[in-house]
Amino acid sequence: MKISYNVNKNGFYGDFGGAFIPEMMHANIEELKSNYIKISSEKSFVKEFHDLLKNYVGRPTPLYFAKRLSNKYKTKIYLKREDLCHTGAHKINNTIGQILLAKKLGKNRIIAETGAGQHGVATATVCALMGIKCIIYMGEVDIKRQAPNVARMKMLGAEVRPAVCGSKTLKDATNEAIRDWINNPINTHYIIGSVVGPHPYPDMVARFQSVIGNEVKSQLKKIEGNENPNYVIACVGGGSNAAGIFYPYLDNEKVKIICVEAAGKGIDSGESAATSVLGKEGIIHGSKTLLMQTADGQITEPYSISAGLDYPGIGPMHANLYRSGRGKFISIDDKDAMKWGLNLSRMEGIIPAIETSHAFAVLDKIKFSKDDVIVFNCSGRGDKDLETYIDYFKL
Ligand SMILES: *Cc1c(COP(=O)(O)O)cnc(C)c1O
Repeated sequence: MKISYNVNKNGFYGDFGGAFIPEMMHANIEELKSNYIKISSEKSFVKEFHDLLKNYVGRPTPLYFAKRLSNKYKTKIYLKREDLCHTGAHKINNTIGQILLAKKLGKNRIIAETGAGQHGVATATVCALMGIKCIIYMGEVDIKRQAPNVARMKMLGAEVRPAVCGSKTLKDATNEAIRDWINNPINTHYIIGSVVGPHPYPDMVARFQSVIGNEVKSQLKKIEGNENPNYVIACVGGGSNAAGIFYPYLDNEKVKIICVEAAGKGIDSGESAATSVLGKEGIIHGSKTLLMQTADGQITEPYSISAGLDYPGIGPMHANLYRSGRGKFISIDDKDAMKWGLNLSRMEGIIPAIETSHAFAVLDKIKFSKDDVIVFNCSGRGDKDLETYIDYFKL
């Protein structure tokens, strides 16, 4: 039998995935698991989802041929413009899908956790859109670091609750959100923002984000006469924008997959987020995957200049892409990522999010040939990172 890189019926991607959860969360997860595919394939759901993606998010996003970049690197480079989505990144595709699902399940209260605040903003946005109560858990340290996003969430009507335990960052916010969900199983849905967490979250989020890859297929078919590029390339934090663009190509090995992780100050510096290389098998947030940990299994605090990539794990789909060799993993340090923020701005007039900048740095690491068709997922825009760019380049 041909192997598949997609999820199996038990919620595993090869050795990774599953649902390793406390007994008290069982009912919530079970409810989701038995409903997510059924509800999200109903005609009325599909129609409402796609209407909102079109008229609210602004889809389909363009597949843009980057002419100057292509000339310089002597290959054919396309950008999938997720940076043009409402709220400035791909995250909204998933939050729209999950809020519609929550409504169908009869939930009237939404919780989420956020680190840098991007997922919090995308969640607060769809809650405002639907008139549903929204509570965002965020580490106290992150609340101070990410003031503009906290203000956005409040502007959108969300309540931002500080997590005051531990390192007061993302993982502590996640623990608070899980505690909340256990206490409010009936009326509350927990919107997870990436392809992480217990099954069915990784698969559910990948399906909602797969709109990205499906659009690429039909757009490439029109432009190039072939729906298959030679390479698809995306940055990986938890892995949702990557999963979205890889999705229709997962089992088509003619299309090469490249995952770009954040090396931070360097893989061996102790300040990095290069999970595939540095990570070992373990369980984080209910899923078996590769994660950065100490010898006795304590989760290590990751570091990257881009707040969206400093997650200590990667989703189980990506852990399996790494272990099986289906995906090629490259880590890019802060310096090269920042340089590419500037390169893309000056060569194409597109200021990318710093997360996104990491992906483009691959152009200096791999030699592509003249006839290769390469699609980069341009996951988000750089407005949110202007402060960091200003400090770094003394603009
Ligand atoms: C959040 C974010 C990421 C990282 O998350 P994934 O789940 O790995 O996609 C990447 N790019 C942008 C612009 C983001 O906001």
